[in-house]
Amino acid sequence: KEKWPRGEEKVWKAGTRGLDRDVDTITKSVVNHVHTSLARQAYNLDDLGAYQASALSVRDNLIINWNATQLHYTRKSPKRAYYLSLEFLMGRTFDNALLNLGLKEQYNEGINQLGFNLEDLLEKERDAGLGNGGLGRLAACYLDSSASQELPVWGYGLRYRYGIFQQLIAPDGSQLEAPDPWLEHDNPWELPRPDVSYEVRFYGHAERLDGMKALWSGGQEVLAVAYDTMIPGYDTKNTNNLRLWESKPKRGFDLNSFNAGDYERAIESSNSAAAITSVLYPNDHTSFGKELRLKQQYFWTAASLADIIRRYKNLDKPLSEFPEFVSIQLNDTHPTLAVPELMRILLDEEDLPWDSAWNIVTNTFFFTNHTVLPEALEKWPVPLMQHLLPRHMQIIFDINLYALFIQAVEKKFPGDRERLARMSLIEEGFPQNVRMANLAVIGSRKVNGVAELHSELLQATIMKDFVEFYGPSKFFNVTNGITPRRWLDQCNPGLSNLIHQTLQLPKGVFLKDLTKLEGLLKYVDNSSFQKKWAAVKQSNKERLAAYIQTTLGYQINTQAMFDVQVKRLHEYKRQTLNIFGVVHRYLTIKEMTPEQRKKVNPKVVLFAGKAAPGYYIAKLTIRLIVNVARIINEDPDTKDLLSLFFLPDYSVSLAEVLIPASDISQHISTAGTEASGTSNMKFCLNGGLLLGTVDGANIEIAEEVGESNVFFFGHLTPAVEDLRYQHLYHPVPLEQKCPPLARVVNEIASGRFGDGGVYEPLLNTVRNNDYYLLTEDFDSYIAALALVDEAYQDRVEWIKKSISTTAKMGKFSSDRAILDYAQECWNIEAVKLE
Ligand code: PLP
Repeated sequence: KEKWPRGEEKVWKAGTRGLDRDVDTITKSVVNHVHTSLARQAYNLDDLGAYQASALSVRDNLIINWNATQLHYTRKSPKRAYYLSLEFLMGRTFDNALLNLGLKEQYNEGINQLGFNLEDLLEKERDAGLGNGGLGRLAACYLDSSASQELPVWGYGLRYRYGIFQQLIAPDGSQLEAPDPWLEHDNPWELPRPDVSYEVRFYGHAERLDGMKALWSGGQEVLAVAYDTMIPGYDTKNTNNLRLWESKPKRGFDLNSFNAGDYERAIESSNSAAAITSVLYPNDHTSFGKELRLKQQYFWTAASLADIIRRYKNLDKPLSEFPEFVSIQLNDTHPTLAVPELMRILLDEEDLPWDSAWNIVTNTFFFTNHTVLPEALEKWPVPLMQHLLPRHMQIIFDINLYALFIQAVEKKFPGDRERLARMSLIEEGFPQNVRMANLAVIGSRKVNGVAELHSELLQATIMKDFVEFYGPSKFFNVTNGITPRRWLDQCNPGLSNLIHQTLQLPKGVFLKDLTKLEGLLKYVDNSSFQKKWAAVKQSNKERLAAYIQTTLGYQINTQAMFDVQVKRLHEYKRQTLNIFGVVHRYLTIKEMTPEQRKKVNPKVVLFAGKAAPGYYIAKLTIRLIVNVARIINEDPDTKDLLSLFFLPDYSVSLAEVLIPASDISQHISTAGTEASGTSNMKFCLNGGLLLGTVDGANIEIAEEVGESNVFFFGHLTPAVEDLRYQHLYHPVPLEQKCPPLARVVNEIASGRFGDGGVYEPLLNTVRNNDYYLLTEDFDSYIAALALVDEAYQDRVEWIKKSISTTAKMGKFSSDRAILDYAQECWNIEAVKLE
């Protein structure tokens, strides 16, 4: 039995409170927070204050479980995994915490007794928008699944003072960006840890010492301070941690300069330290070699590794056993500096020889690649790296020489200079660049893509040389997943309740084992069940319609089919194909006789998504959508049959309202460009059908739900390269290539939807080399839309498809994905807190 650490055990035990389980203790705790944490009273409490007090009260419960879990992990000292991600797109926490703690009903009632309404308070929470899109939301789902499966996994990221920008739409229809001050009213869900801090060095000088060691000194030192967010598992006490780092100056400010009257100088270094974590870079799938971004990446990996090593050292084990107790997942190349950083620590601080250090490193890291798009592959100019991180640059050169070339590639493929040049960590040029993906591959034990097709493509293209070098066993696939807690039960309580009643299973059963949804297949033909299913969809459509009414002031027809495309704006995701399709539909309806119009399937088309602020073509696409909407929605000939909306400021919370309301959603990337997609899974889980290309996880969704339940169109991946080649070297004018699309493009250019000249650069992407192959896929896209219309006319068949789709989505739970990682990579096991 452990010795009690301090004072009298019974006094400590008597002072230890348990979880608030009943309404009475819950109201007491909320009132106490109103009085003492907020210094307010019933007389002057608004919804925001009531939200804050309730959140603090829920947080107390999370902390109790968090503390117990961490103590338990420390005592058991299991192998742990760490998920390093520069983005965690968490969304709101309140509702999720209540669900996972199993306290929703109690808080609902308690908050009622205090004169407030839980639904109103939930709306007061600001989204934690610390991510751009799919990659960041995936990280958030993985945290939920790790905790829910009682796996000892922590996330590490950055605490950006400003998350993803708020998107506004200007009067001319274009996107405007405003800062996202998500911390304005404090964040009740985090716990500042001023006692957990590390010094991180930049710049300075690296002096080679004996052997492979060096001494790195001078330069700028900043402090990384931890903020912890508790991650409760569903239906378990296990509560994991997301540790986010904030940058702070090491010393407040330079008192000498201050006293000498040079105020600017005095605060300069303090400002530059604080700037590191001030803002999330708003680019998705694009990398710009900005110094501050590299600083963010190093700051975060250095602090996280220092923390991981400190925790490991408490185990009193030799460093050689590090990989037996620690696995670290690199979410994309963003944390790849962890590879040279761990080498630096082991060589320079721990005095290990090179081979032992490299052995530890290459057994600790695992790397997930998220894209094959060339613009997303990170490269850093050697001069920049040398200036900011002189020691790491040395180590990268050493890895290139010793680990890659001298010891290995040269032996296996002697004299193959081109292969060496392709595999090198250094891309030749002026300046030279460091290739982060190559570094991540050679520094990791295993490498995975995020859907079957993507993993195959990776191995056949950008990683081909490495597959030939290491053999195929280093490379594998983990298809992405989504958490059913948030993306079924929270966002669609109506559907979750219906499933619960129908399967006669406690919610915990299917929310923890999503394959249980297959039980719904028995009810596909049951007409009373079909009606209930349709009623849930209808009420979700009405909930979305109410949102649109309040935000945009438009009343929409909830009897119409809701056709949704929501995701980051990107040429490869082809929102342009969709908006051109909408214009085509509009022109077609305009030409119809009143009789013909009676046969048209009424449709509401919804778009949402942010464009990177510097991505001109993507922003122009938003402007086009908004301006086409203005014309279409006011046209008396068509507006009952076709309406179009761009919902501003797409976020996790907006996704939670949009996704359950969709009849059909579009995932229409050029084949081979979308690594996986995860919103496709969310729509299908919520009974929306999928219209898409044969790409990413669309393929696996079709394999599960059956091809008859999805609408596929477009060229397949193997054709894409040849088509692009033809476009480049044997161009055919748009009029000849695809007359219906030419007509659409000409109508836009002619000014039918406002100043046509504005859209020329966007239209030219199609007229000229059409890299994303809209001209090749337009006809089959229009044909697929017609099939969707036809299928929707038979409402019973449609509902059957919808039920069958949801029933077969079990594979796409992030619980399955996380278990894949736990078994294939991390070799960790559940450590249940009793
Ligand atoms: N952005 C948000 C807010 C999301 O919730 C999601 C996923 O649901 C995404 C982006 C990723 O969407 P997609 O997989 O369509 O790119």
